[in-house]
Amino acid sequence: MTGTGNRERGTEHSAAVSVPGSQFPVPAQRVGIGYDSHRFAPGGPMILGGCTVPSDVSLVGHSDGDAIAHALTDAILGAAAAGDIGEMFTDTDPANRGRDSIQMLRAAVQRIRELGWAVHNVDVTVIAERPKIGPHRDAMRAALAAALDVPVQAVSVKGKTNEGMGWIGRAEGLACMAVASLAPVTAR
Ligand SMILES: [Zn+2]
Repeated sequence: MTGTGNRERGTEHSAAVSVPGSQFPVPAQRVGIGYDSHRFAPGGPMILGGCTVPSDVSLVGHSDGDAIAHALTDAILGAAAAGDIGEMFTDTDPANRGRDSIQMLRAAVQRIRELGWAVHNVDVTVIAERPKIGPHRDAMRAALAAALDVPVQAVSVKGKTNEGMGWIGRAEGLACMAVASLAPVTAR
């Protein structure tokens, strides 16, 4: 859109936003981003997206290494400006060793709920040469939806390879990106 178009839109809707003495309206939505990566270790299975995925490699981590759950946890916490997964679950705490990452995700959902937010929808991209995400997509969506307390239709999981490039292409590990949108609890 051109600058002129923006000005026209602003004029057209000016009555809706220029209430004397008011603060900027409380936004009805928040958005957060999360990223995670984990190195592969020989021997499966792999815990990913809350599912046990048959694989000849697993994900190295202080917890169970579930990069989808970790990226989503950061996206949700980020959307509420409520910290990050490393601060909530330090990797120096023995209690977090081998921790079920779905429980970490549930804890993040609880934290944002206390701040007045609920998850609206999430979108995840896994970047990995293996395992293939497609055959496990629906099981992951169901497991994540249950943890997020949203319908399965509000959870998207997508897989991509890195076209053989770099550390992902050499199958040294995988990466995951996630976006989460939140709505006020009262709006659900
Ligand atoms: Zn992680």
